Amino acid sequence: MFDSLTKRLNRAFKNISGKGKLTEKNMDEMLKEVRMSLLEADVNYRVVKDFIETIKEQALGQKVYDALDPAQMVLKIVRDELTNLLGSTTAEINYKEDGITTIMMVGLQGTGKTTASAKIANLMSKKQDRKVLLAACDVIRPAAIEQLQTLGKQIDVEVYTEGVQVDALTTAKNALAYAKANGYDTVLFDTAGRLHVDEELMKELEKIKKAVKPSDILLTVDAMTGQDIVNVAESFNEKLDVTGLVLTKLDGDARGGGILSVRAITHVPVKFVGTGEKIEDLDVFHPDRMAERILG
Ligand code: GDP
Repeated sequence: MFDSLTKRLNRAFKNISGKGKLTEKNMDEMLKEVRMSLLEADVNYRVVKDFIETIKEQALGQKVYDALDPAQMVLKIVRDELTNLLGSTTAEINYKEDGITTIMMVGLQGTGKTTASAKIANLMSKKQDRKVLLAACDVIRPAAIEQLQTLGKQIDVEVYTEGVQVDALTTAKNALAYAKANGYDTVLFDTAGRLHVDEELMKELEKIKKAVKPSDILLTVDAMTGQDIVNVAESFNEKLDVTGLVLTKLDGDARGGGILSVRAITHVPVKFVGTGEKIEDLDVFHPDRMAERILG
């Protein structure tokens, strides 16, 4: 993952390490290389600009030019700022202490929303001992309901559905009532996706939001679409106030531009990453660990 970014960043640091005192010229050359490697990784140019400026300020503030071995200091500054860029700390799910935790899964078709719903349901039921219900609210495509039912069976989590005859809002309300009556503590609503963000989709999602008062609205975005995820996330966030992102298909993302841009621009934290097609291929997102991985 992100191999070429890691390689280029390492090359940049090599140029300043083992040289003793650092001059501003060395630093500028190093930062130029860092800047180029981020731009080539498809990181948003505004994000790159702010990132480089912050590193410069930090380097001055921490007096790296007076230090005897400045390379380690610079590397630490870059690591810390990379962690900040990715969101600083792990963003947790907003579990409700009393009552049912309701999680709306939203996203464009094909981004991996249904898969992510099942992966998260599996994680919560197996690892966190929660009693989870999956609600099939994508009533546009019959195949979506079947897909969720198949996944539900696989992970041993019940799927609530009323088929495609009943609209999504009614299904969502009834699923919540069913969860209350049957002792569930968590409901994940798998909503419909479209190929593009459109008014009709947003209206339906807004209605479901009003009805189920979600503890979290998680938007799935496909990491392979790079910076495009920023535009998608902004559109959904404007209408719905998304509380977290699930960055899917990170296993297929060679560059890393999306993950490094989206938090800084949208301010929505990444809560999970999808790393493959299998149910277990889901990680809680830790910004510090991801920064370490990127730096190699
Ligand atoms: P939806 O239309 O948004 O509900 O998308 P699906 O959940 O049906 O997923 C679309 C395709 O992406 C399926 O073939 C999934 O197996 C695949 N997929 C989902 N998440 C991941 C992931 O993290 N990595 C990879 N490689 N494939 C994924």
